[in-house]
Amino acid sequence: MHGLLIAGKRPQGQGVIPVIEPATGASLDQVASAGPRDLDAAVAAAAAAFPAWSGLTAVARADVLFRFADLVRAHTEELAVLEARNAGKPIGDARWEANHVADTLRYYAGAADKFFGETIAVKKGGLDITLHEALGVVGLIVPWNFPMVIATWKLAPALACGNTVVLKPASLTPLSALRLGEIALEAGVPPGVLNVVPGPGALIGAALAAHADVAKISFTGETATGREIMRAAAATIKRISLELGGKSPNIIFADVDVDLVAAEAVGSVFANAGQDCCARSRVIVERPIYDRFVEAMAAAATAFRVGDPLAESTQMGPLISTHQRERAERYIEIGRSEGARLVCGGARLEGGGFFLRPAVFADARPGMRIVGEEIFGPVAVVLPFDTEAQAIALANDTIYGLSGSLWTNDLKRGLRVAQAVRTGVLSVNSSSSVHLQAPFGGYKQSGLGRELGMHAMAHYTEVKNIYFETT
Ligand code: NAD
Repeated sequence: MHGLLIAGKRPQGQGVIPVIEPATGASLDQVASAGPRDLDAAVAAAAAAFPAWSGLTAVARADVLFRFADLVRAHTEELAVLEARNAGKPIGDARWEANHVADTLRYYAGAADKFFGETIAVKKGGLDITLHEALGVVGLIVPWNFPMVIATWKLAPALACGNTVVLKPASLTPLSALRLGEIALEAGVPPGVLNVVPGPGALIGAALAAHADVAKISFTGETATGREIMRAAAATIKRISLELGGKSPNIIFADVDVDLVAAEAVGSVFANAGQDCCARSRVIVERPIYDRFVEAMAAAATAFRVGDPLAESTQMGPLISTHQRERAERYIEIGRSEGARLVCGGARLEGGGFFLRPAVFADARPGMRIVGEEIFGPVAVVLPFDTEAQAIALANDTIYGLSGSLWTNDLKRGLRVAQAVRTGVLSVNSSSSVHLQAPFGGYKQSGLGRELGMHAMAHYTEVKNIYFETT
C-alpha cells in the first residue's frame, strides 16, 4: 500500500483507499487514507518548511523546480501509463498530459525570478515599492478528471512563489499525485514543502479548507463543492481560487466546412469521455446547416474509437466509475423523456469496464435539463439558431462561463461574438482551451481567479506596499 507523503515520510494513515482501474473494473492498487490527525501533521510539516523555502532566493527555488521538471520529463512514460490506467485516459492523451506536467513545472521554474513588484510615484514623494510575498501553507484540492495536470497547475506556481503545499488528490485517482510527490523529493524539493494526503473529500478536503494554519485553498471540482469551500474558508478569510463546472458552448456558423468542424466538435466534447470542465457539450448550429451538421456529428461520434486506454488507436476510454457512467445514462434517459432526439450512442460496451458510447442529442431546446446541467460524461446536445444575437443569447443562457468555441470564416463576426460570449476562455476556429502561458478560468459559477500564465503567480502571493520616507 502506498503511504501518505508528509514531511518526506510515508505514514500509513487511518484507512485504505482501494484504487480501481476503470477500463476493467478490477482493483489496481491501494493507497493510505488520511485521517484528521494526518492532515494536521501535513499542515504542520508544510508550516515548518515554509520559512526556509520562502527564504530561498527565487533563483534558488527555480533551480530546484527545474530539476523537478527534468525528473518528471525522464518519467513521462511511467506517469502516462499510471494515469492512463488509473483515470482511464487514452495513452496518447496521457502522454501529452505527462509532458504538459513537465512543461508546467519548467514554465513556473522560469517564472520564479521574473515576477516582481512596482516602483510607484506617490503624491508624498519618497519611494513607494510593492513586493509579492508568499502566502504560507497552501491547500490544493483536485478532481479526478485531469489528476496530475490540475495538481501541477496549482503546485508549480505555488512553489515558485515560495509557498509550501498540502495536496489532496481525489480518492478515485491518488496514484499520480503520490508519484509526483516522490519525484519532487528525489529532485531536491525539501521534505515538508510538498505533502500529499489522499482522503475523503467531505472529511480531509473539508478539514483542509477550514484549517486555521492554511492561508489559501486552490480548488478544482464541482460548483457545489466550491460553495462548501467558500463557506469553510470564510471563518479565517482564507484566500481561495476556484475552478468549477462548465457547460461550454460551441457556436457554429453556416459558412464553415461542415465535416471538418463536426469532427472537431466530436473531439471537443468526447475527449476524456466528456469528463472535461471545458467539454463543448452545447453545440449551437446555424439553421441552414443544422441537419447536415447533426448527421456529420453523429457519423464522427459513431466512428470515435472507444476502447482500451492502453491501445494506441483509442480516442475515448471508459468513464471514471460505475457511478459516473450511471449518471450519464440517467441524463440520456432524461433527454429522451424531455423530447430531444438521440441520434447516436448511449450504449455500454461489453465487458467489465465503465465504457459508454458517445451520445448526441438533436432537437434540444433551452429549458431542457440536458441543455442546462453539467453532465460530465459523453453526452452532447445540438441546438439550432437563426441569428447572431440568438447564438449569443443561447451561448450565455447558463449559470456557467468557463470555456467555448466559435467557428466562422467571417473575421468581424468572430471578433464580435467572441467579445459577447461570457466565458473566461474562448477559441475562434479552434477547440483548444488550455495554453500554459495564458490565463485559464471561469466567469459566473465556473470559478474565481485564474490559473496558468503569469496570472497564476498573483493568486499565490500577497502584495505588500512599502513606503520609504526619503526627506
Ligand atoms: P468534486 O467537487 O466532487 O471533488 C473535487 C475534489 O474535492 C476531490 O478531491 C474531493 O475529494 C474534494 N472534496 C469533495 N467534497 C469536499 C468538501 N466538502 N470539502 C473539500 N473538498 C471536497 O469534483 P469531481 O467530481 O472530482 O470533479 C468533477 C468536477 O470538477 C466537474 O464539475 C468539473 O467541471 C470540475 N472541473 C473543473 C475544472 C476547471 O478548471 N474549471 C477542471 C476539471 C474539473
